[in-house]
Amino acid sequence: MARLVLKFGGTSVANIERIRNAAVHVKRAVEAGHEVAVVVSAMSGVTNQLVAWVNEISKFYDPREYDAVVATGEQVTSGLMALTLQEMGLKARSWQGWQIPLRTDATHSKARIEGIDTDVLSAALAAGEVAVVAGFQGVAEDARVTTLGRGGSDTSAVALAAALKAVRCDIYTDVDGVYTCDPRIVPKARKLDKITYEEMLEMASLGAKVLQTRSVELAMNHRVRVQVLSSFEDKPGTLVVDEEEIVEKQVVSGIAYSRDEAKVTLTKVADRPGVAAAIFGPLADAAINVDMIVQNISDDRKATDLTFTVGKADLDRCVKLLGEQKASLGYAELKPDPNVVKVSVIGVGMRSHAGVALAMFRTLAEKGINIQVISTSEIKISVLIGAEYLELALRALHTAYGLDAA
Ligand code: ADP
Ligand code: ASP
Ligand code: MG
Repeated sequence: MARLVLKFGGTSVANIERIRNAAVHVKRAVEAGHEVAVVVSAMSGVTNQLVAWVNEISKFYDPREYDAVVATGEQVTSGLMALTLQEMGLKARSWQGWQIPLRTDATHSKARIEGIDTDVLSAALAAGEVAVVAGFQGVAEDARVTTLGRGGSDTSAVALAAALKAVRCDIYTDVDGVYTCDPRIVPKARKLDKITYEEMLEMASLGAKVLQTRSVELAMNHRVRVQVLSSFEDKPGTLVVDEEEIVEKQVVSGIAYSRDEAKVTLTKVADRPGVAAAIFGPLADAAINVDMIVQNISDDRKATDLTFTVGKADLDRCVKLLGEQKASLGYAELKPDPNVVKVSVIGVGMRSHAGVALAMFRTLAEKGINIQVISTSEIKISVLIGAEYLELALRALHTAYGLDAA
C-alpha cells in the first residue's frame, strides 16, 4: 500500500473549520487506499505570538526555553487534527517529536534533523491509523525539545516522507502552487506545473517562503516527490522534480526576494592583505552569516570601502561587534542600513545563455533603481536595492524576462 505524507501549513489549520477542511483531504487519501501520515503547523499567527512573548521577556534568551515555548503551537494542532479525524470515523493519533522520536542536533531554534525512528510509526500506519505528527519540532540527545527554524514544518514533512519511503509529500498551503514570483506582490505571476529541485532550492534560499530551504535540500537528496498545492481548491499544484522531467526549459524560471537582509558599510578600510579576514573572522565566530560582499578601491588606492549584508536579525550584534573593534580594524565609519531588499532572478537556463544579468541591470536602470550590491552564481543573479523599490523592481523584471501570465 502506498504511503503519503500530507502537510498542512498555518492558514490551512487556522481554526476548527479549516482543520475540518484539511481533514477531508486526509480522509480522501485514506479512502483511496493510502497509508497516511499528516504533518501540521501551528495555527497561523500562533508561532509569531509565542516568539513575541519570548522576546518580551529577554532579547538574549536561553534558546532551549525558546524551543520549549514555540514548539507548543504544533502540539495543539496535532491533537485537534487527530480528534477531528476520529470524529470523521478514522483511526488517528497525534505524535509529538519526542514521541516518535524525531532526533535532531542541539542547535536550538534551528536544529537539524539527524534521524527519524520509523518502527512505531510504521506499525501504526500498517494498522490503519493516521499518524498526525506535530511539525517543526524534534528532540535533542539530552531529551530537550528542539525546533527546526521558522517554516520548519515543511522540513518535518519531507524528512518524514523520506524516512517512511512515501510515494509523495503533499504540502498544502494558502497558494495553489509555486509561482514565477510571490503572487501576493506580482499579480501577473504564473503558476508553474513543475520546477526542478535545484531551482526550488535557489528560490527558497533566496527568500521564497513557500518551502523552507532545508526541506528542498532533503527532498533533493532523498528524491522525495514534493507537491505544493492549496488546501482550499481542488486542483493539482506544482511538482518539484528532477531536471530531466522538465521538457521546456526557461532561461529565467523565477524571481525571489528577501526582506531579511541588512547592509553594513565600513569606510576607508586599509587596503592590505588580511583585512577582510580580520573583519569577517569575528563575525563568523559569532555565527553571523555574511551574504553579499562588495569592495570599492578609493581614488588614492590606499583605502577601500567595504559593503556587505548580514541577516536583519543579526544586524545589532554585527554593529556591536565591529564597533568594539574599530581601533584594531582601523576603518573610518560604520554605516548600518536595514532599509534594503535582495532581489534575485533564478534559472538553470542561465548556464547556457548570456545576457541575463545585463537584462536585469538595464531593466532596473530604466526604472531609476540604483543597484547597491551584486552577487551571482551559476543559476542566479542577486542585487541589493532600496526597500522602497521592491514591488516596482519585481514587476518590471517579471515583465522583462517574459514571465507574465497571458
Ligand atoms: P504555510 O503557512 O502554509 O507554510 P507560508 O506562508 O509559509 O505558508 O508559504 C506560503 C506563502 O509563500 C504564500 O502565501 C506566498 O505569499 C509566499 N510565496 C513567496 N514566494 C512564492 C512563490 N514563488 N510561489 C508561491 N508562493 C510564494
Ligand atoms: N509554525 C512554525 C512557523 O511559523 C513552523 C511552520 O509553520 O512551518 O515558523
Ligand atoms: Mg511555511
